[in-house]
Amino acid sequence: MSNHYDLILRNGHCVLPWGIEATDVGVRNGRIISLGLNGDATADTVFDAKGLHILPGLIDPHVHFRDPGDATVESIPTGSKGAILGGLTTVFDMPNTTPSMVDAAGLAWKRDYVERVSWCDMGIYVGGTRANTPSLGDLELTCGCCGIKIFAGSSTGDLMIEDDESLEKVMRSGRRRIAFHSEDEYRLQARKGMYNVGDPYSSHMEWRDEECAFLGTRRLLALARKTGRPAHILHISTAQEFQYLKEYRDLVTCEVLVNHLTQFAPDCYERLGGFAVMNPPIRGKHHMEAAWKALNDGTVDTIGSDHAPHAREKKMLPWPNCASGLTGVQTLVPIMLDHVNAGRTSLMRMADVMSAGPARVYGAVGKGRLAAGYDADFTVVDMKKQRTIEESWIVSPSGWTPFAGVSCTGWPVATIVRGAVVMREDEVQGAPVGKLVRFRG
Ligand SMILES: [Zn+2]
Repeated sequence: MSNHYDLILRNGHCVLPWGIEATDVGVRNGRIISLGLNGDATADTVFDAKGLHILPGLIDPHVHFRDPGDATVESIPTGSKGAILGGLTTVFDMPNTTPSMVDAAGLAWKRDYVERVSWCDMGIYVGGTRANTPSLGDLELTCGCCGIKIFAGSSTGDLMIEDDESLEKVMRSGRRRIAFHSEDEYRLQARKGMYNVGDPYSSHMEWRDEECAFLGTRRLLALARKTGRPAHILHISTAQEFQYLKEYRDLVTCEVLVNHLTQFAPDCYERLGGFAVMNPPIRGKHHMEAAWKALNDGTVDTIGSDHAPHAREKKMLPWPNCASGLTGVQTLVPIMLDHVNAGRTSLMRMADVMSAGPARVYGAVGKGRLAAGYDADFTVVDMKKQRTIEESWIVSPSGWTPFAGVSCTGWPVATIVRGAVVMREDEVQGAPVGKLVRFRG
């Protein structure tokens, strides 16, 4: 009996924490039981991974599934389906929904809902506000909560906290790592009057300039140092911030977005118009090159999509009335695999920063490693498969992607969540099996 498994993955090249090895993987009760099986081991299901690479389940720690909100744009059922079709096993969902996730009642509703409808495992952010600051220490410890998210700039209604005094109060409430959207709100507001409706879409990066991001990050790092509170700076977009962060690695981790590794100005605004508008903005090539350097020297801890869908009509409005935010949960893995094939980083580093990284930064239990005892989450990829991203493939009801027409070498061909094969060759299989991720308190 001990030689029988629920699932065996045979003949694959496994991306282990210590290197890539050709080995078999045995799964029982949703966990990895052993690597390197005997030839006579049996299983209910045998997955032949010949010619394929098996990565630890990849995690997108930055998605906006807009649920509750406008289901014609996105929802947890559709967003999580996009995640598994795109090779992700876990996502962490942001709190700026309608209503926002800022209290125990909202989180309790969302926990129950996620476990009924999600195709992938999920972590839930709690949004910090001035009103809930005193209770953040309790809220961040609730089941399934991946941490506190603070919008320190980029107005999102009641979720924004922009002044140092209020930010310091947040940092003194609770103890887990806090994730920040870092742009200096005062500088953003001061510069807004310099532009007019209908200016070119590239005005977005001039208005929200490098100093907006760098100043926001300098302020947050000073407060993190003052309070000793660990911080995670989301979507770093400037060379200056990557350089500055190196002095704070004892306390501060950071994220880079696939868009900031892939798209650059002015090209993106000329080709895509409003469909390139996001916060912080896509900038010139110099910053994209700095992001790659930071990824490959280890400054970067996580890669996200910042999947933030909007209706097509809202993206087509003249700048600055066009909505900010891009779809991306389904295209994150293919785009990164193509970067690996182009030699911009290694498959080992991709697995490190897209699985081990988010598990470490957020304290996710049982995630992030293809190793015995860990959750049987796998992203199975064909490194040789060539395919062009098409909008018809996108399952988000918003229906568009800024990567339409991009051809990729390397593609996710199966997604396995705690031992359940939920996607194989573009087909969604079975029923939604997603559960809340457990986090170290
Ligand atoms: Zn975001």
